[in-house]
Amino acid sequence: MITSDILIIGAGPTGLFTVFEAGLLKLKCHLIDALPQPGGQCSELYPKKPIYDIPAYPEILAGDLTDKLIDQCKQFEPGFTLGERAETIEKQKDDSFIVTTNKGTKHQAKVVAIAGGLGSFEPRKPLLDNIISFEDNGVEYIIKDPEFYRDKKVVIAGGGDSALDWSIFLADVASSITLVHRRNEFRGHLDSVDKVQELKDAGKINLITPAEITAIIGNGKVDGVEVTKKGESPLVLETDHFIPLFGLSPKLGPIANWGLEIEKNAIKVDNSLDYQTNIPGIFAIGDVNIYPGKLKLILCGFHEATLMCQAAYKIINPGKRYVLKYTTVSGVDGFDGTRKEAPKAVVKAID
Ligand code: FAD
Repeated sequence: MITSDILIIGAGPTGLFTVFEAGLLKLKCHLIDALPQPGGQCSELYPKKPIYDIPAYPEILAGDLTDKLIDQCKQFEPGFTLGERAETIEKQKDDSFIVTTNKGTKHQAKVVAIAGGLGSFEPRKPLLDNIISFEDNGVEYIIKDPEFYRDKKVVIAGGGDSALDWSIFLADVASSITLVHRRNEFRGHLDSVDKVQELKDAGKINLITPAEITAIIGNGKVDGVEVTKKGESPLVLETDHFIPLFGLSPKLGPIANWGLEIEKNAIKVDNSLDYQTNIPGIFAIGDVNIYPGKLKLILCGFHEATLMCQAAYKIINPGKRYVLKYTTVSGVDGFDGTRKEAPKAVVKAID
């Protein structure tokens, strides 16, 4: 049994920042994530994209933000159970919870913070008979590192922002890039659609619409795909990679059966106070929750995590008063024995 003060489900930006805020209150955290690495959407969906609305960072790559969040929280020695999905929850007589993963790992904590974002990542897959046998052998649903495609032939399928943005990005990386979409119109930003058209005119993107991939060709690894244009006979395109970017199906997964109030595929919380759900002791923060005026933004997740930790402190330390101190005044005592001192001049001024 793995025990902690706060069990965090989801190691995205919200979950990682929770560790830091909890650490300031001397609360120990453990995180579970279905993905093999922390960072949530930032590391899984767009690690190389710049984010422009993180306070004090005019521009930061999503992957770098993840690294910095890990760096900031590691002094509080969080535990990680990665590559496992939280499946079930049971309330105990002492009001703590036991959460069990799909691999049978058991975690016990007084407070559970669900920071599950969009839920477990399930890419929408095209209905092609043999696609599963090509996964990670030329078929990828997520682009983690564009360099992986350097000087390779790539076929992308899809009509949204991901398909457009990655086609544009890989036009300078891959030896050839083909974008296949089943309609002539795209769902993405107009700027991206215009850019793809520009690259097509310059001979840098091969655009095939309205068309669909109807088969994958290869023996153990992808050698090509069959493309069928509406009303025409199929043609075979040689390729090293086939990347269907049809989005993720937003599913809460097993958490949806935990007796929590759900609205629009998100967990309802009380935002007037502390982001607690209808079950006392279980909180929902970040993209996974819903309340009037909710914005699915990283900085909103940070704010929610901060308030949630204050409420968790009261549950874990009943009757004990906590006085909020600025870190500039109190410094930061890491669980690993490190101490970041507050500058003396500031302490004096505040005292
Ligand atoms: P997530 O990042 O979704 O992390 C949730 C984690 O929970 C995941 O790793 C998932 O695997 C895990 N999980 C879920 N269910 C379970 C379970 N049952 N068991 C175990 N693990 C589970 N936001 C901005 O503020 N600025 C931007 O510029 C911006 N750009 C974006 C660009 C793109 C392409 C996308 C897709 C999103 C963008 N966002 C942006 C949104 C931002 O990424 C999210 O708001 C943020 O990731 C939410 O963080 P989170 O920690 O709440 O959830």
